[in-house]
This record gives sequence, structure tokens and C-alpha cells, in this order.
Amino acid sequence: MSQQQTAGPRTCTSCGGAKGRTVDTSHDGKTVQTWHTCTPCHGTGTQGGGV
Ligand SMILES: [Zn+2]
Repeated sequence: MSQQQTAGPRTCTSCGGAKGRTVDTSHDGKTVQTWHTCTPCHGTGTQGGGV
């Protein structure tokens, strides 16, 4: 894998910039999608900013 170094904030490696992810949970035969805000980037989609 190659990484580009930029001066600005980098895309969160945990969520890939999606700011979070949906978790499928099966309940009573129905699939419920719950949104979980990405923890490392706190839902910003980027990390490493402000350094
Ligand atoms: Zn993230």
C-alpha cells in the first residue's frame, strides 16, 4: 500500500472517511441498521488535523 503525505488532515483510516459505520443487527427476523459514529475521528472522517 502506498501512502500520500499531505499537509492537511488525513482521511480517517478507521472509517475511510465515512465518519462512521452501520451495524446490522438482527432482531425478530428483521434487520435493523444502527449508525455508529467513528470513535477515532469522532465522526469527522479525518484525523491528524490541528497538529
Ligand atoms: Zn473515522
